[in-house]
Amino acid sequence: MENSCLFCRIVAGEIPATIVHRTATTVAFRDIDPKAPTHVLVIPVAHHADVTALAGDPSAAADVLAAAAKVAEIEGLDDGFRVIFNTGAHGGQEVFHVHAHVVGGAPLGPMLARP
Ligand code: 5GP
Ligand code: ZN
Repeated sequence: MENSCLFCRIVAGEIPATIVHRTATTVAFRDIDPKAPTHVLVIPVAHHADVTALAGDPSAAADVLAAAAKVAEIEGLDDGFRVIFNTGAHGGQEVFHVHAHVVGGAPLGPMLARP
């Protein structure tokens, strides 16, 4: 746990969040500013800054992917969804505790906005 990390504090229950799924190693909660009808963030309990760091912890990485799939099932995203890891400056990452965005619930349009 890193005291200065927003998402570590959500894991610890110090900051409220609407949790939709939890395992021993992952927490999934609704994004505070949803970009789609369903927009859930899936994080490992263990602090890793980004997906590159998460890739160095294969067990946690597998657990995050499994939780993302479970969230899609719970949320009824049977017509499809996206799993997005924004990474670094060009990726637009704002919170440096790795998180998978699980978005869906409507057609999501082009994969990328044009710059
Ligand atoms: P990033 O840009 O790092 O990939 O995404 C960070 C996400 O975290 C954003 O979609 C933002 O809306 C969400 N977020 C930021 N602060 C909070 C918060 O305090 N609670 C929740 N539930 N989501 C947050
Ligand atoms: Zn953290």
